[in-house]
Amino acid sequence: MEKNMDAAKRIALIAHDQMKASLVEWCKKNYEVLSHHFLCGTGTTAKMIAEQSGLPVKGYLSGPLGGDQQIGAKVAQGEIDIIIFFSDPLTAQPHDPDVKALLRIAQVYNIPIANNLATADYLISSPLFSSAYTYHRPDYVRGRS
Ligand code: PGA
Repeated sequence: MEKNMDAAKRIALIAHDQMKASLVEWCKKNYEVLSHHFLCGTGTTAKMIAEQSGLPVKGYLSGPLGGDQQIGAKVAQGEIDIIIFFSDPLTAQPHDPDVKALLRIAQVYNIPIANNLATADYLISSPLFSSAYTYHRPDYVRGRS
């Protein structure tokens, strides 16, 4: 199923504790571009970005308390266009199943997801990031195409 994304995207921002400073810096560096989009994120990440960058970020529950699952549900409902998720590859997370579920559901619905700084840089510098974009949302009810 083809689906239109507006120029203004709905972007979810998530960072594990050791990665939060890096995501905050990335948001500050990209303030101008990000200010044209709707931003949301898991509780602590959203609060830190809002306080330290001045960008408005709608906060959901903290990740370990269900925030990743809330964002995953939004992906399934077609309400998130892009995910920037700085996950920590070196620290065990109590909510590892939720993290895996979010990565999986983003893949299921063909949502761009950046798991590190370099990928986030590539994504945000794409012309598609801030322009209308028709993307393919797989229709699993009718079949895999
Ligand atoms: P937090 O959650 O932003 O509430 O810390 C992030 C996560 O660990 O998934």
